[in-house]
Amino acid sequence: SELDDIRAESARAYELDRAHVFHSWSAQKQLTPMTISRAQGSRVYDGEGREYLDFSSQLVNTNIGHQHPKVVQAIKDQADILTTINPAHVNAARSEAARLVTERLPEGLDHVFFTNGGAEANEHAIRMARLYTGRHKVLSRYRSYHGGTNLTINVTGDPRRVPNDHGDSGVVHFFGPFLYRSEFAAQTEAEETERALHHLRRTIELEGPATIAAIVLETIPGTAGIMVPSPEYVQGVRALCDEFGIVYIADEVMAGFGRTGTWFAFEQAGIVPDIVTFAKGVNSGYVPLGGVVMNNAIYDRFADSPYPGGLTYSGHPLATASAVATINAMAEEGIVENAAKLGEEIVKPRLEKIMANSKHVGEVRGVGMFWAIELVEDKDSREPLAPYGGGSEAMTDIVGKLKAGGVLPFVNFNRLHIVPPLNITAEDLNAGLDVYEEVLTNADYS
Ligand code: PLP
Repeated sequence: SELDDIRAESARAYELDRAHVFHSWSAQKQLTPMTISRAQGSRVYDGEGREYLDFSSQLVNTNIGHQHPKVVQAIKDQADILTTINPAHVNAARSEAARLVTERLPEGLDHVFFTNGGAEANEHAIRMARLYTGRHKVLSRYRSYHGGTNLTINVTGDPRRVPNDHGDSGVVHFFGPFLYRSEFAAQTEAEETERALHHLRRTIELEGPATIAAIVLETIPGTAGIMVPSPEYVQGVRALCDEFGIVYIADEVMAGFGRTGTWFAFEQAGIVPDIVTFAKGVNSGYVPLGGVVMNNAIYDRFADSPYPGGLTYSGHPLATASAVATINAMAEEGIVENAAKLGEEIVKPRLEKIMANSKHVGEVRGVGMFWAIELVEDKDSREPLAPYGGGSEAMTDIVGKLKAGGVLPFVNFNRLHIVPPLNITAEDLNAGLDVYEEVLTNADYS
C-alpha cells in the first residue's frame, strides 16, 4: 500500500540521514529528527504517515501552506522553459518578481537585489549601507535573529551569536522594547517605548554617530519572541536614523509577506525604511529566495560605480517564478486579509482564554498569524519555563503532548509560537488551538 511505501522510504531516509547528514545548530548525536514524508495545505505527514496540523509553517515560511497548486504548477512550467541562467542576463520571471515586490513597497523603494535567503539579504543590505555611508558599525537589538552567516549571526542578538563572536564584526547590540521582561523598569507600554528610545539614542551618541552605518531591526522580532513594538517605537527609530544619517534596514524576512496581516509589518507603524530585506514568505520557501530592496539614494550610490557583490543564483528563474505565482495567489485569494482576520477574531481571543486558565502561560502577544505564548514557572515570578538559550523537561513534555494531539508546534526556549499558514481554514485553526488549550490548561509543572 502507499502507506507501506511511505514508511519504507522514510525508514531508509532516516538511516541515511543519521549516517550522512549534518544538521543546523545541533549536537549531531543527540538528535532524533522528525521525518516529514508529505505535506498538503496546512497539514504535514511524518514517516509513519501520521497527520499533523502545521502550526509552525516549518520555519515560519510556508505562508500560503504546503504544495499550493498554483505555485507548484508555476515551478513546473518554469522548469520546462528555463531552469537557470547567469544572473547578468535578463529573464522574465525575475523582472516580474521584482515588479511585484516593489509594487507592494512604498514609492522610492524601487529596486531589488535577489539572494538565496534571508541571511544573504541582510549581508548585502549591510554591505550597501556601509558603502553608502562610508561607516562601519551596525546596531541591532538583543533578542533578534538575522541569519547564520558569519556577519549576520553576529548581528543576531541571541545565544547562538556568542560562539561565533570574534569581536571584529563591528556590531553593537542594544535592548529593544519588551514590556513583559522590561530592561527599563517600565510599567506601561508608553514608558517602555520612551525609555527604549532613550537607551537607543544614548547608545548611538556614545558609540559615535559618525561610525554607525546602519540599524538593523526586525520590525517585529520573530524567533526571538514576537515582541510587537508600539508604532511610536518604530517611528522613533526612524527619527533617530534620520537625525544621525544612519541607514534603517527593516528585516522583514519573517514578519513580511503577510505574516502580520499586512504585506509588510513596518506599514503598521507608518514609516518607510531605507532598505527592506525579505525571504521566506516571498515564495513560501518552495525554492530558496530572498532579497534586498534599497531606496533610490542607495541605488544611486551604485548607479555609476559598480556594486562589489554578487551571487551565481541572484534571481534564479525557478525561485522568482515561484515568487510571482505566490504573490499573485496571495493577492487573488485574499491571503493577507485572511491572516489579519483570523488573528484578530480567533487566535487572539482563544490565546487570551488559554492564558487566563493556565498557570504556566505568563503572556500571549502578537498580531495577524504571528503569536507567541510565553511559558513561565509561575505568573508572579515570570521565571521562564526553560532558560534563555536552552530547553527543559517541562517544555519537552509540552511539545510531546502537542504532537501527540496532532499539531506540529514552533518552539523556542520557553515559548510556543502560533504561526500556521495564513490561509489555514477557521476550522483547522480552531482544531489546532483546541489541542493547545487542552495541553496548556492541564499543564502543571510546579
Ligand atoms: N532574518 C529573520 C528575521 C529571520 O527570521 C531569518 C530566518 O529565520 C533570517 C533573517 C535568516 O534567513 P535565512 O535562514 O533564509 O538565511
